[in-house]
Amino acid sequence: MRKISIFGATGSIGQNTIDLIRRDPDAYDVVALTGGANIARLAADAIALKADIAVTAYENRLADLRAALTGSGVKAAAGQNALIEAAARPADWVMSAIVGAAGLAPGMEALKQGATLALANKESLVCAGALLLDTAKRHGACILPVDSEHSAVFQGLVGEDIDSVERIIITASGGAFRDWPLDRLNEATLAQASSHPNWDMGQRITIDSASMFNKAMEVIETHEYFGVSPSQIEVLVHPESMVHALVGFRDGALMAHLGAPDMRHAIGYALHWPERRHLPVARLDLAKIGQLNFQTPDPARFPALGLAYHVMARGGMMGAVFNAAKERALDHFIASRIGFLDMATIVEQVLEDFEGSSSLIDAAMTLDNVSKIDQLARQQADVAMTKRTG
Ligand code: NAD
Ligand code: MG
Repeated sequence: MRKISIFGATGSIGQNTIDLIRRDPDAYDVVALTGGANIARLAADAIALKADIAVTAYENRLADLRAALTGSGVKAAAGQNALIEAAARPADWVMSAIVGAAGLAPGMEALKQGATLALANKESLVCAGALLLDTAKRHGACILPVDSEHSAVFQGLVGEDIDSVERIIITASGGAFRDWPLDRLNEATLAQASSHPNWDMGQRITIDSASMFNKAMEVIETHEYFGVSPSQIEVLVHPESMVHALVGFRDGALMAHLGAPDMRHAIGYALHWPERRHLPVARLDLAKIGQLNFQTPDPARFPALGLAYHVMARGGMMGAVFNAAKERALDHFIASRIGFLDMATIVEQVLEDFEGSSSLIDAAMTLDNVSKIDQLARQQADVAMTKRTG
C-alpha cells in the first residue's frame, strides 16, 4: 500500500484527489489530511479514509475537530506547526493543494522526507521555485506538476530532451471576462469574477483566472519548473479549455495535449506516474466538438500577464513579492475594497517598490527570507491599496 497525505484536502483539488483515492481504497494507506474551516468535511473524509491524523490550519478550531473525530481513532491537530509536523510524517506521495503561499512550508517539509510531491500549489513555485527544486534534489525527492497546463507539458516532454524544446505554449480559457471590453472590467463584481465558464475550482483561483493572474503565475511556474527562458513561454487564449498546453520542438513539431477540463486527469497522472492507468474522465469526441478556437491575449485588458515577464526578468525573489502582492490585492477585491482592475495596479506598484531593494530581493533564497519578503510585500500592497482608495 502506498502511504499518501493530502494537504488542502477539503478544497477543490483535494476533493478531486479523494475522489480518485476512494475508487481504489485498498491501494492507499492515508497518513494525513489537512483543511481549514470546513471541519465537518475534513473529519468525514479523515474517518472514511482511515487517516492517521487530520489537521486544520486554524488553532481555534481544534476543539471542533476533536469533537468531530471522537471515537474514530483519527488524531486531531491544528495550526501552522501541526501542518509542518504532518508533512514530516513518512509518506510516499503527498498532494500539495493548499491555496496560496501557505502551501510552501508543508511542501518543503514533504520534500525533505523524500516524498513525491504532487504540486497543485503553484504559489510555492512562484515564491521559491529554486529553493523547492533544490530541496527536492538534495533529498532525492520528486516534484510532479498538477496544474493542468504543466501536467500537459510534462507529458509532452516524456522521452524528449528539454534542449530540443523551442517554445512552450500554455493555454488560457480567458476566464469569466474573456470578451469584456476594458471599460467594463473595472465594474466587474465579485460574483461575476467568481464564476468560471469551464472549470469548477476554488474561489481564489477562479478570480485569478478572470484577471489572468492565474495564467501569469503559470508562466512563472513554467519558467521555474521546466527551466526554459521567459522568451520561450507563450500564452494562447483557448476558450474551450481542451488543449491544455503545446510543446514546440526545434524541428517545428508542435505536440498538443488534449483532454476534457477535469482536474482528475492531471491529479491521476501524478498519482500513477510513471504509469498511465484508467481515469474516470470524459473522453473527447472531436467530431462532435468540430472546432477549437485560439487567440492572442489582449495585454491591455489583462495586464497581469505582462507583470509576470517583468518578474522573471528581474529575478531573485521577485516572485515572492509578486505572489504576496497578488494575494493581498485579491483579499481586498474579495472584501469589496477595490475594483477588479485595481488588483493589477496594486501589484505593479508593489513590484516597483521592491525593484531596487537588492538587499532583499537578491538575498539567499531561504524559507525565512521568502517569508520576510512575503510579509513586507503584503504590507506594501496595503499601502498601495490605501493610496488608491484614499
Ligand atoms: P480551494 O480554495 O478549493 O482549497 C484550498 C484548500 O487549502 C482548502 O483545503 C483550505 O482549507 C486550505 N487552506 C486555505 N488556506 C489555508 C492556509 N492558510 N493554511 C492551510 N490550509 C489552507 O482551492 P483549490 O482550487 O483546490 O486550489 C488549491 C491549489 O491548487 C491552489 O494553489 C490552486 O492555484 C491550485 N490549482 C487548482 C486548480 C483547480 O482546478 N481548483 C487547478 C490548478 C491548480
Ligand atoms: Mg492551470
